[in-house]
Parts: sequence; structure tokens; C-alpha cells
Amino acid sequence: MTTQSSITRTDPELAALLRAEERLQADTLRLIPSENYASAAVLEAGASVLQNKYSEGYPGRRYYEGQQNVDPVENLAINRAKSLFGAEHANVQPYSGSPANLAVYLAFARPGDTVLGMSLPMGGHLTHGWGVSATGRWFHGVQYGVNAKTGVVDLDEVRDLAVRERPRLIFCGGTAVPRTIDFAAFAEIAEEVDAVLVADIAHIAGLVAGGAHPSPLPYADVVTTTTHKTLRGPRGAMILTREEHAREVDRAVFPGLQGGPHNQTTAGIAVALHEAAQPAFRQYAHQVVANAAALARELLDRGYDLVSGGTDNHLVLIDLTNKDVPGKVAAKALDQAGVVLNHNTVPFDPRKPFDPSGIRLGTPALTSRGLTVDHMPAVADWIDRGVTAAHKGDEDALRRIRAEVRELMAAFPAPGLPTA
Ligand SMILES: *Cc1c(COP(=O)(O)O)cnc(C)c1O
Repeated sequence: MTTQSSITRTDPELAALLRAEERLQADTLRLIPSENYASAAVLEAGASVLQNKYSEGYPGRRYYEGQQNVDPVENLAINRAKSLFGAEHANVQPYSGSPANLAVYLAFARPGDTVLGMSLPMGGHLTHGWGVSATGRWFHGVQYGVNAKTGVVDLDEVRDLAVRERPRLIFCGGTAVPRTIDFAAFAEIAEEVDAVLVADIAHIAGLVAGGAHPSPLPYADVVTTTTHKTLRGPRGAMILTREEHAREVDRAVFPGLQGGPHNQTTAGIAVALHEAAQPAFRQYAHQVVANAAALARELLDRGYDLVSGGTDNHLVLIDLTNKDVPGKVAAKALDQAGVVLNHNTVPFDPRKPFDPSGIRLGTPALTSRGLTVDHMPAVADWIDRGVTAAHKGDEDALRRIRAEVRELMAAFPAPGLPTA
């Protein structure tokens, strides 16, 4: 399957880049934990004529005519989101995860209000009140971290900060959190200080949908998520909430923050939610977790220092200090070897954020291709040999890994990519 024949005719230069990207995604081992492979059906929805329509407003309440098909598409996405996650209300219009979080601020807080979130270098997200983000510049960001010994969120610290600072919003969730989030404990703290609890499940939405991570829905006032990470949908986001907050959330997204929704994305979200409701997706979610656990064990066996000592979910964070290789050096060498991941800060990192001590990896994309726990020793070997090669500057070793990776990946065609 390839949808690029028109581009090949009109813009060969761009078409060549798209084909090169298809090859890159096909023959590398993609370990970036926020990335995945969307299905051909999801990609098709995203390239559909729905993108030609303007439809500011919500189904049945639009500012433009000609919504005969757009309204049912958005209703499909909304109803599937509500049913899959057990939510009373869903807004599927946020352009991406960051605007979804900004909409939550707009709905529940005023500039200058205090917001409590996990700090970026400890594993939180920019939009949880970090200084360089609009959320940290327009709001008073107070940040919690992890326990220095356990590497796990320190709920005593969260509670102490909440009691002292009385935040309007409390965010839980993040981008480098390898352990189960205790939504019930966060809810208890939020209730004690009368704060709005926001569970940002951008990374783990697919695991929640597939029953491989506890759901925040019974506990959080608001749940935000991207749709393109473990959920395997298009680039987009959703806000799930109880009926009592439906109006303020909807008004914050439109007209508060955005104009017309991206209807082709809405359609892609509907397709992805339908896929995520199938039994095969439950199996996928559990396989993602099993693969990450197996990979973590293999890495521990090879002397790697994992933040929190392992993982409960799809994500592994490695502190490379004991291997004497900076995160960026390791990530760049592994990229040459066809093993694609990202450098990352580790908690209490003594190095600078743009040159940190760690690498972050995860199993969502490789699991979408059908790799199982049986392949994790090979994956750990490639990482280990790549890190050793990075240490020695051994380019030949990286080339050998590249060839082995290419060979394995050829046996596991990726969803959404052309097979030839
Ligand atoms: C990815 C992510 C976001 C932001 O999503 P974008 O679509 O990149 O804007 C927000 N919060 C968390 C926890 C994330 O992991």
C-alpha cells in the first residue's frame, strides 16, 4: 500500500523523502516510547477529504453548513472514546496533547494560579507548569519529583507541596515515568486541598484502554491524552471528563483556544478507537508491558542501571553513568546501528538537560510489529553492543548491528507501511 503516486507525479523531491522515511521506519528498530505505527486505516482517514471541511463548534451546533457527514464522524469518535474509557464526556478536538492541557488550564484556572506537576527533568511534561512553557510563565508552577532512593514519585512530597501551596490544578502522569501511577492516592491529595486532579495519560492511554494499566477515570476530574502514542491513532488528543465539567471543557477547547477541528484527525481517532476496542488490542497492550518487562530484565542482567529498578509499563529509563557513556553519545551511536531511541535526563541528573546521563526507550512500536519476549534478549544485546561501541568509537560494530537489525525487521512488516 502506498498513497504517494500523486505526489510522485507532482513533487518528486518530496515523494523521495516520504519513500525514504517509509524505508527508515521499516528497517530500523524503533524504541522511542512515544512513537508507534498507526494502521493503514488510520493513515487513510488522515489523508481523507474530511480535511477540506470547516466545522467550528460541536456536532449539531456548528458555525458552518454542510456538516451532514462531519457531525456523525465526530459523534462516532466521541461515543467510542466514552465507551472505551468509561467516560461521561469526551472532547476529541484538541490539536495535540499540549493544546489539550492548555485547554484544561483555560477551563479551570486563571493566570497566576498555582499548578502542581511533576518536574520535567524528573519525568514530567513541559505543560505541567515547567518554567519555559506558557503554563509555567502564565501560572505559578510548583513541581514534585521522585524519591532519590526508589526513583518513584514521592507521594509524601506531593502531599506536602499540595498542602503548603494549595494548587488549583494537580497534574499526574509524564513522559519518562516507568512505574504505575497511583491515581487513587493523587485523588485523595487533590480532594484534601480542593484541587482539580488532571491525569495526563498521553503515554499510557493504549495500556489503559487495553486493561494493562489501571484507569484514572474513577479518580481524576479530568483526563487528557494524546491519541498517537500507545493508542496507535493519528496525531491528536482527547479530554475525558465527568458530565459536570463537560461545558467548561468544551468551551475552553472551542472557542477558547482553537478554531476549526481537524476533521480528518477526528476520523482517524474514530478508527483508532474502534481498533482499540477489539480483543486483539487488549492482547497488544499486555504484550507491550510483557516485552518491556523482559527487556528491562535483560538490561539489568547486562549491568544496566534502570531508574526505579525496572518498569511496570511500556517504558524503560536507563542511567548510563556506570557505563561511562553520555546519553546523547549512546543515542547517536545506536541511531547509526538502526536502534532508534532518545537521550533523556534521569532524576537528579548531574549533567545538563541537552547533554544528559540517560536514554529512554520503550516497546510500543516493536510490539505493533509482532516482536515478543523471545526477541528481547537480541534487542538488549544490540543496545549493549551499541553502548560499548559508542564508548570505544567502534563504527564497524555499529555497522554489524545495523545489518542484524535490518534482517530481523524485514521479517516483521510494520502496520501502515508498504510491504515491498
Ligand atoms: C506527549 C505528551 C504530551 C504532549 O503531546 P503533544 O502531542 O506532543 O503536544 C503531553 N503530556 C504528556 C505526558 C506527553 O507524554
